[in-house]
Amino acid sequence: MSQSKKGRVFSGARPTGRQHLGNYLGAIQNYIALQDEYDCVYCIVDIHALTTVETTQDLRQNTYEMALDWLAAGMRPEETIIFVQSQVPEVTELHTYLSMVTPLGKLTDLPTFKEKIRQQPNNVNYGLVGYPVLMTADIVLYKSNAVPVGVDQAPHLEFARETVRSFNYRYNTNVLIEPEMKATEVPKVLGIDGQQKMSKSLDNHIELAATPEATTERVMQMVTDPQRVRRSDPGDPDVCNVFSMHKVFSSPEEVAMVDVECRRAGIGCVQCKQLFARNLNANLEPFRARRADLSRDPDYAWDVLRDGKQRATTIARQTMREVREAIGLPQD
Ligand code: SF4
Repeated sequence: MSQSKKGRVFSGARPTGRQHLGNYLGAIQNYIALQDEYDCVYCIVDIHALTTVETTQDLRQNTYEMALDWLAAGMRPEETIIFVQSQVPEVTELHTYLSMVTPLGKLTDLPTFKEKIRQQPNNVNYGLVGYPVLMTADIVLYKSNAVPVGVDQAPHLEFARETVRSFNYRYNTNVLIEPEMKATEVPKVLGIDGQQKMSKSLDNHIELAATPEATTERVMQMVTDPQRVRRSDPGDPDVCNVFSMHKVFSSPEEVAMVDVECRRAGIGCVQCKQLFARNLNANLEPFRARRADLSRDPDYAWDVLRDGKQRATTIARQTMREVREAIGLPQD
């Protein structure tokens, strides 16, 4: 850990391929900022993905695309460890040991598990039940002090903390570190349908790396204030997703102008969206240029992940030596 930083942060995300605005505003932006204060370990959690994916056909490409987006957005691989979960298999060993101190009822009671049963009733697999245990293993394997979590993930982190306490108590050790929750405001970014959370699977997303033309096309499809039917109808920006996005990507003057002009039908939705699309494309331009630059070397992102794997493995092996020692298992 570098002297000047506050500790080590861990976070993981599933390999969902090219990232969208929701991913950026909800996670990536925060990942980038945390690098200034913490030593960061960011993991593409492909083993977790296996609990729900229907096909693994795109898994490798999705991993690559996501890593490239993270790097283009400003992750600094010289300091930050960026790696793929399955490439450090020690996590599965730790997961097994942690599962022995985890009451099954606690897992089946978690709201996220119940939700998954509803979502995929025909695939309630063993991995799905143990998901929070694997997540705990991810965090503690790298001796992380803090985990950035939004409110909806708080029960999982509390679960991780309890599991660490159970393990340390059971084996009379303090080898595992109880991670602190770094409460993070995760904005709910709605998709272009203006109804549901932005998500690739719902096809209501706007990709960060799309061309300016494709981006504008998506923006023009955005659902606005449903009460505003005709151009002459006054609108209500407070219920319009385009306005929420203006607040993120447009200047304060433009936001103020839309706020006023929408309410008195001084601006039409088409014009308003065109303005937003222009600002969004201008904001994304440096990201896109950097992505294009980085992708000129097709090995670059893989090299970063390989280097991350090595650095993560060094920490993981040390932790596992201590864990085996604490349990009383034979060492090599
Ligand atoms: S003018 Fe803009 S803010 Fe108002 S309803 Fe239309 S898109 Fe939304």
